[in-house]
Amino acid sequence: KQKIAVMTSGGDSPGMNAAVRAVVRTGIYYGCDMYAVYEGYKGLLEGGDLLKPISWKDVRGFLSEGGTLIGTARCMEFKERWGRKQAAKNLIERGINALVVCGGDGSLTGADLFRHEWPSLVKELVEQDQSFTPEQVEPYKNLTIVGLVGSIDNDMSGTDSTIGAYSALERIVEMVDYIDATAKSHSRAFVVEVMGRHCGWLALMAGIATGADYIFIPERPPKKDQWQAELKEVCQRHREKGRRNNTVIVAEGAIDDELNPITSEDVKKVLVEIGLDTRVTILGHVQRGGTAVAHDRWLATLQGVDAVKAVLENTPSTPSPLIGINENKIIRMPLVESVKLTKSVAENIENKHFDKAIALRDSEFID
Ligand code: ATP
Repeated sequence: KQKIAVMTSGGDSPGMNAAVRAVVRTGIYYGCDMYAVYEGYKGLLEGGDLLKPISWKDVRGFLSEGGTLIGTARCMEFKERWGRKQAAKNLIERGINALVVCGGDGSLTGADLFRHEWPSLVKELVEQDQSFTPEQVEPYKNLTIVGLVGSIDNDMSGTDSTIGAYSALERIVEMVDYIDATAKSHSRAFVVEVMGRHCGWLALMAGIATGADYIFIPERPPKKDQWQAELKEVCQRHREKGRRNNTVIVAEGAIDDELNPITSEDVKKVLVEIGLDTRVTILGHVQRGGTAVAHDRWLATLQGVDAVKAVLENTPSTPSPLIGINENKIIRMPLVESVKLTKSVAENIENKHFDKAIALRDSEFID
């Protein structure tokens, strides 16, 4: 009988509970024994009560709950080989050799590394640690990993949306609507800062959905000395046309074309220069919390169902799959490739930051 464990890891996102529910119930439907890992990779390492069977009724009501009810945590020990060996031991002791992980790129990278190391970890557990006999580990020679992307940023390559992104977007749009009402009353301008360090999807979509005057995202840096005049011109033009408020959305990772950060305070200063009574609102964690919107619930459910099917169809030579969605169809893609592509985009932005920092430091040194 196949035993499958499900876990959530990294930052929480709305819809993770729906994913857990779907994985647990689909697994039971197909005759598997299901386990939940509580508190992310910490639960895999510690075992005990943090790695235990989960039943059909344990996930009742999960669809309408925000956050992740089985918990998540950052776990530095899982980045170490000894930590992953401890995790392998805990899984084998329970007869588990398949793991469905719902998390961001860090969590999924860790999961794939774990799968690759698994045969050597098992060998060590038998030969060096003598935790098991060769006969005991015979059915556990390979580990199956299936990934689900839980992230509010919509920042995974190859999938149209990640679990949680539409919920966070909905929250932002709702908040901007609230802000607009008071802004119009007082004829004010508001700079709204939203999450997204490397990915401006939330800022861009929220800007479109609320009719913002201007949007700053990391992927499209405006020219260093020109954005200020452009922003002023746009906001003034809208005022002249009769608008009583201005809304500017700034992604937290916004930069100019020379890669200097553009903060919400920088934007505020520019708006004040044209006489606008300007306030800054940093939305923060309200974007993460709250219940999942319908999109994230069905996305997580359909993907959770496919994750279990992927476990059951997996062979040792299949690359670890990541479940995504493309043109409204649930798809599987190689986990490692998607993570690699995603990282290369993010690192591109980061590296440029780094180069810029070095250039600045060097120029100061020359001065
Ligand atoms: P978010 O997008 O919300 O940041 P994430 O999954 O990328 O989510 P991380 O903090 O990067 O979040 O990773 C979560 C956990 O996954 C880490 O605490 C660690 O236990 C594990 N992990 C991350 N990267 C690795 C890695 N390279 N090797 C092993 N484990 C890792």
